[in-house]
Amino acid sequence: MNIHFSKEELIFQNDVREFLKKELTPELVSAAKHTSAVFTEKEIAMEWQSRLAKKGWLVPSWPEEYGGTNWNETQKYIFSFECAKAGAPNLIPMGLAMIGPLLLGKGTKEQKDYYIPRILNGEDYWCQGYSEPGAGSDLAGLQCKAVREEDKYIINGTKIWTTHAHLANKIFCLVRTENSGKKQEGITFLMLDMEQPGVKVEPILTIAKDHDFNQVVFTNAIAYVKDRIGEENEGWSVAKYLLEFERSGGIGGSKSLSDIEFIKKLVNKISINHKDTSFIDTYLSKTNELEIRAQAIQYTSLRILSSLRNGDSPGPESSMMKTLVTDLEQEISELTLEVIGYYGIPFQDTSFGSNEPAIGDEDFRSVAGRYQNLRATTIYGGSNEIQRNIMAKAVLGL
Ligand SMILES: Cc1cc2nc3c(=O)[nH]c(=O)nc-3n(C[C@H](O)[C@H](O)[C@H](O)COP(=O)(O)OP(=O)(O)OC[C@H]3O[C@@H](n4cnc5c(N)ncnc54)[C@H](O)[C@@H]3O)c2cc1C
Repeated sequence: MNIHFSKEELIFQNDVREFLKKELTPELVSAAKHTSAVFTEKEIAMEWQSRLAKKGWLVPSWPEEYGGTNWNETQKYIFSFECAKAGAPNLIPMGLAMIGPLLLGKGTKEQKDYYIPRILNGEDYWCQGYSEPGAGSDLAGLQCKAVREEDKYIINGTKIWTTHAHLANKIFCLVRTENSGKKQEGITFLMLDMEQPGVKVEPILTIAKDHDFNQVVFTNAIAYVKDRIGEENEGWSVAKYLLEFERSGGIGGSKSLSDIEFIKKLVNKISINHKDTSFIDTYLSKTNELEIRAQAIQYTSLRILSSLRNGDSPGPESSMMKTLVTDLEQEISELTLEVIGYYGIPFQDTSFGSNEPAIGDEDFRSVAGRYQNLRATTIYGGSNEIQRNIMAKAVLGL
């Protein structure tokens, strides 16, 4: 494969850099840097979303008629690499990377015409109601029940780990509409309003005390038949289609490289207080090892892109990338915590707009919280053990 960018691609890279210089304000970069939660705070993410939407660069992969850019795979790669390098906030995936692409692929014309513009302009803020207290990896075991009454479904049951349910006005859910047959049968995919009397949101705090996710209890909540995606009892295939988008978000390595640069910056800052050079030597050698892995992931991404350009589909590579990227992210966060030493011990407030002074140095503020919250990356979107099962079956034929 040829890993060098063409002349046109270099011009494009320059355009992206110019745009970032203008629109990615220091406030946005600083807010993103101090986010310790897995998901960016709504306020920051939506500000960045509206700047991208204004430029027409919010949803590069979507069809042009719905706001896509018609970029090739290399342009998409350059764009996401430059955004990560410049420290742009992550966008919230539930609307833009999950229900949006699902609607485009499987929704009716009425659903697309109504919901797609509202996702792009931020009017609707979505959450995902898949997991239940007794159904996570074994998602098909879900029990939340929906009973059809004329043009509605009446829903009773509980969803859990529902990210940003306390901020969302819409939820997409998997519900059980039939109990006979295999457990994958009898599941239906519904979209409904969070703002109705039958929906109760109970907060769950993360290990770092961030409020990211919730338990959502439905008591006679209502969803309309017109807001069902796919046929009744055929929600499992809809759910699997959506999970492909969720997992393919792992392609990259660019974020890891910028996090490694951050470790180097911390090592240099802290080494000023060290008389001998062993501190700097030890940590730079550990950092270099991680950097080599991040670069290997990046080249693997480029190889996948190269085969996508030839019309191949990613297949089990999305499981491989999810596992490699999330394992590496966790190790990077562990080394960052090790570098700041005892500054990682006190609890530091990382919420947006907090005026509590940082302990030690502003750069230390989110390190411990980030280390704690990143434990989640190998669990959500299908745990890494589940991804390894997929690879074992699909690649090794076990
Ligand atoms: C930060 C975060 C955000 C989330 N957001 C959402 C959300 O918005 N909406 C939503 O619906 N869900 C969400 N989830 C839930 C997530 O999808 C589940 O946590 C995940 O699917 C795992 O399910 P579980 O927690 O029930 O663990 P379990 O399925 O009980 O797994 C427990 C452990 O057993 C292992 N295990 C289970 N089965 C197997 C197997 N067959 N082979 C090998 N190992 C196995 C798992 O890998 C894991 O280590 C979120 C989770 C996190 C951490």
